[in-house]
Amino acid sequence: MVLAQVRIAGLQARGVICRFSRPRLFHEGEPAIQLQVKTILNLVQHFVGFIYTDVRLLSPTGRPSSIEITLQSHRQIRGRCSQCRQPAPGYDHLEQRRWLSVPLWGIPTYFCYPPRRVACAEHGVVVEHIPWSEGKRPVTCAMMGLLARWARRLSWRDTARAFQTSWEAVYRSVEWFVQYGLAHRQLGGVEAIGVDEIHWGHGLRADNFLTVIYQIDRNCRRLLWVGRRRSQATLRRGLKALGPEVVKGLRFVCSDMWKPYLQVIAAQAGQALHVLDRFHITSHLNQAVDEVRRAESTRLRATSKKAAQKLKHMRWPLLRRGGRVRGCARQKLNALLASKLATARAWDLKETFSHFWKYNSEFWAGGFLDYWCFRAMRSRLEPMKRVARMLRAHEPLILNWFRAKKEISNGAVEGLNNKIRVVTRRSYGFRTYKAMEIALFSPSRRLSKEGKPLSSRRSPRTANTRPRTFSY
Ligand SMILES: [Zn+2]
Repeated sequence: MVLAQVRIAGLQARGVICRFSRPRLFHEGEPAIQLQVKTILNLVQHFVGFIYTDVRLLSPTGRPSSIEITLQSHRQIRGRCSQCRQPAPGYDHLEQRRWLSVPLWGIPTYFCYPPRRVACAEHGVVVEHIPWSEGKRPVTCAMMGLLARWARRLSWRDTARAFQTSWEAVYRSVEWFVQYGLAHRQLGGVEAIGVDEIHWGHGLRADNFLTVIYQIDRNCRRLLWVGRRRSQATLRRGLKALGPEVVKGLRFVCSDMWKPYLQVIAAQAGQALHVLDRFHITSHLNQAVDEVRRAESTRLRATSKKAAQKLKHMRWPLLRRGGRVRGCARQKLNALLASKLATARAWDLKETFSHFWKYNSEFWAGGFLDYWCFRAMRSRLEPMKRVARMLRAHEPLILNWFRAKKEISNGAVEGLNNKIRVVTRRSYGFRTYKAMEIALFSPSRRLSKEGKPLSSRRSPRTANTRPRTFSY
């Protein structure tokens, strides 16, 4: 043993073995630090005026059930008024309260502390300000932050399960996070907004629609406002919430052809260029094609089974952009297009319209639009005729797209719209409108109903978009 040490020392001296200088953890002659939970707490979460006195592991059944961390107020430091945060003389103590904190080694952990009441000169006798908690919440701020962060990655229910807490606690944490974000967000520099209607829940009652306003500037895309219903009053409320400076500073507004919106936008943001964007027009066309397909499918089924086979399972290949249909679906689509079915003609009209977006000049685009409407009106397909009439009625606003083309990011509306649809369809847990609103504002990964990330198979509307997240 001694011989080996001598040999190593010799090798080190000759430079054969490098000698690393180790970081010193403690002074020589001193014992190593006995690491206690209190030490970690003081390093990570130190609150001025409060002392961690006791850390206890409770295991009534032999297995650890919870950890209780007891705090005490510092005798020399006065408590602060919860209203104005100013130091005030003490009045009395209340009963001990417990706050759920970040779990240690997976064991539920609680802060225990009997809050003082202080006699504030301005606010009278009030409960003191508790730095690790917010209001009367039974969960510490650190735990709320942890839950809210995990709620971005998992569903709220899974987050609650993983941290052995309730769905309610996760919801309240996300709500707290979102409210903080909304209260501290900057609305300067908003130049382009998108206004959209979203359907949620079951049925077509007025309450089943939402109006959403998002920012679609190139450098910043985010949800700005959500409100119930899709009336003029809703949008007016939304614009009021953004404030007059933001509305006056708008340069572009993107929206659908929904009449109440058009009227409010014209009245309140007249200076902004109003654009009917590509995403909404494409979805109108897709809807028309789908209507033709459904009607024809019903008609064919009544006469011959064989003819009806051609339209079976064709919904997504028909709605997808033509160039993106490949493989087996492509063969079926080609067979369908070779037939003399009305669906094939509707699909052809839809595909032809995609050329419209490739124009650079507003003038030539207008020419193309006239030609397309002329063809559609003679197609003997009522849904396509309806789209043509709608496009004709809104021609100037549609052509505004070419004036705004360089300024508004392509697909921003689509991306945000998809994101919102994912949340509104994810019905689990959202028992109330409020909960859904919070979920819309909270940035999250794309999740399916079960809380798993969505598979690569996407609907045509989403075909060209990456998942996007909101930022405050
Ligand atoms: Zn006060």
